[in-house]
Amino acid sequence: MRLFFAVIVVVPMIAVGVALFFLLDAGDNSKFNSSLGTAQTVAQHLFQEARTRAMTATEKLQSNVELATAVDDGARPAIQRQLEAQRESLGAEWIKLELTGHEPIQVGTPLAIAASQAILQDAKQQRIGRITLSVTTAQEYADEVRSLTEVGCRVDRGDVVLASSSRAAQTAKLPDGQGEDVRLSSRDYRVTSFTVPEPGMQPTTVRLIAQLPANGGGATILVIGLTLVFLAMAFIFAVIVNRTLQAEVERLLTAARRLGRGDFSVQVPAEGNDEFAALGKEFNNMALQLEARLEDLRRERGRLQEAIRRVGESFARGLDRVGVLEIVVQTAVDGSGASCGRATMRRRADAPMEEVTRSGEPESFHRALHAAEAAVMDAGQVAEIQIAGASAMAAPLSATEAGDRVLAIVSVARGDRPFAPAERELFAYLTSQAAVSVENVDLHETVQRQAVTDELTGLFNHRRFQEVMAAEVERARRYDAEMGLIMLDIDNFKRVNDTYGHMQGDMVLREVARVLRQSAREIDEPARYGGEEMAVALPQTDLDGAYRFAERVRQRIEALELPLLDGDGILRVTASFGAASLSSAPQSDKEGLVAAADAALYRAKRSGKNRTVKAE
Ligand code: GH3
Ligand code: MG
Ligand code: MG
Repeated sequence: MRLFFAVIVVVPMIAVGVALFFLLDAGDNSKFNSSLGTAQTVAQHLFQEARTRAMTATEKLQSNVELATAVDDGARPAIQRQLEAQRESLGAEWIKLELTGHEPIQVGTPLAIAASQAILQDAKQQRIGRITLSVTTAQEYADEVRSLTEVGCRVDRGDVVLASSSRAAQTAKLPDGQGEDVRLSSRDYRVTSFTVPEPGMQPTTVRLIAQLPANGGGATILVIGLTLVFLAMAFIFAVIVNRTLQAEVERLLTAARRLGRGDFSVQVPAEGNDEFAALGKEFNNMALQLEARLEDLRRERGRLQEAIRRVGESFARGLDRVGVLEIVVQTAVDGSGASCGRATMRRRADAPMEEVTRSGEPESFHRALHAAEAAVMDAGQVAEIQIAGASAMAAPLSATEAGDRVLAIVSVARGDRPFAPAERELFAYLTSQAAVSVENVDLHETVQRQAVTDELTGLFNHRRFQEVMAAEVERARRYDAEMGLIMLDIDNFKRVNDTYGHMQGDMVLREVARVLRQSAREIDEPARYGGEEMAVALPQTDLDGAYRFAERVRQRIEALELPLLDGDGILRVTASFGAASLSSAPQSDKEGLVAAADAALYRAKRSGKNRTVKAE
């Protein structure tokens, strides 16, 4: 600010002052010189006039009879008296008469100037001498010049000072020429001179002496004074402006610091039309923008935390197809900035696609979502559709790398604007990762199924049979309900193996298992007990019920006509059954029930096979 003041105000001001000073000084100087010039002209005039008067007087004297008579007589005292008398009458100051062969005679003061000279002749016109006359003394002349021009005047002849009307210049050595400056008794003077020839003597030098104005004169003082006043005013103005600006800047600075500390409520005054008001408006705007951005960031962080929490939950939740899809849909909606989303899948291979989870209100964008899902079913890859002001994206969760079987579809939609490339990318990435998760769920389910299933027959295996039995017995006991169990053993199965080979034996096992499955109710749980022995746990079934079920299965097995694997012909098999129930068992627990059924089966074998025996 100070630099600004110095550069903008002080330097130019001083420059202008100096320039003015020089201009005025030059003006003063030329004015002074011209007045000195005028004085010189006046002085020259006066000199000329004095000489003219002297010439007139000289002519009169030349023709003066009395003087001529006195000269003729030749008596010096008479001539002297006559000259004195003529000087008086002609008003001359000095007369000098030079007669040939005589000493010159002078009257009046010799300190006279502007003399005139004439030849003196006798009656026969013979030259007898000459007269020189002056009507002005040097002092008179100097005083008159001074009174007319107000400039001092000194009159010299050779080295002799004749007169001076300037006290200071009375004895000093003065320069010749026009406008020379000289210092006399500690004052500055300017001297201009002219020299006029005098007849019969050294010429007269007239010098005009004018005192130079002290310190360049009043105008210069005025300029300096004004410059100083302006400087002072500029300084005061600058200080005021400086204070005001500083206050404004200080306010903005304070606000900026508060903003820097995260206080977004800060507002600076923004009234008026000046730049500070504009700056204030921009500043307030910036604060608002920052606050909004920060709010966005907070929201974004919230969403991120939510997504991480969901992913964490998905680790904890374990493998569950719908659970995975729930997380995928929610994350896809959040990640792509959609307003809703859903996942559809087939519950069974031949069932239609149905919605299994949703986020937001998919009904509002049903058309767009449906169209995108249909496009995915057709193309088997990510699709984006825009219909009636809505945008939807859908992606398949495929069962294999080649994507030849669409397991499920995840779709998202929103109404305000189409999806940006980054949102599309994130959506595609999320759904591709989700596909891996869903595949893992499938694998997990397969492994789980395999762990409890007998591979050859597709029935529960022995381990699962034991679990089912334990659970069902427990349940029957809790509800005080009945529970049945049948066990069967294929008759002479060894012979089938021996006669037709193991492949044929396996086929018999599969067919018997199929009959068993088809005969069982939803709640019955057929299992391969071991070898060619099978068992079916029958919840809510008493001994008679178990017996009837066993008989039905037995008859169906008996009726089977199994094609031989090599060669023509058919194979028939039979099986023996033991039927038991909890209440009929001697020991009403899992082991007791199994033992009772097993004992009944044993008795069926012993009593001729292909029959059912009830537990006792
Ligand atoms: P019974 O009428 O007394 O039951 O006579 P059986 O020939 O059935 O006698 P047994 O129960 O001793 O024979 C069981 C045979 O079943 C022995 C074994 O080779 C055969 N077997 C067990 N498991 C399988 C299997 O998974 N596949 C085939 N092909 N045979 C099996
Ligand atoms: Mg057996
Ligand atoms: Mg057998």
